[in-house]
Amino acid sequence: MQTDFSNNNGSSGIKQDGTPYGVLIVDDSKFVKKQLGRILESEGYEVISTAAHGAEAVDKYKEMKESIDLVTMDITMPGMDGITAMEKIVQFDSSAKVVMVSALGKQDLVKKSFMLGASNYIVKPLNRDKVVERLSYVLNS
Ligand SMILES: [Mg+2]
Repeated sequence: MQTDFSNNNGSSGIKQDGTPYGVLIVDDSKFVKKQLGRILESEGYEVISTAAHGAEAVDKYKEMKESIDLVTMDITMPGMDGITAMEKIVQFDSSAKVVMVSALGKQDLVKKSFMLGASNYIVKPLNRDKVVERLSYVLNS
């Protein structure tokens, strides 16, 4: 498979078979959910669903596993946090791809996430190009 991520024609969210990659967006901030959704949809990804806390994320992943190719997971949320939710999702499906969404300066939490099975991470405030590059990398590796 070609690994050319410089492709900027709005199609990095489309699989080789022409169907979109499905994403579950998890964040307690409506603003971040909307912002991330807009970035992903502009690249052809399909937002399968969103969740506002960890427990909802785990439930939705289990329910919609077949259509979810990737999860973006906020770390800090009320109730079940993102690291715990990611861990539960990876325990349920060892091939799950979960990308953590971290505030700046939380390297310790990012490191912990990697040890517990996260695929990668992105940092808030979100940079469009970096988000797209990171997700493409995760989906193609
Ligand atoms: Mg949060």
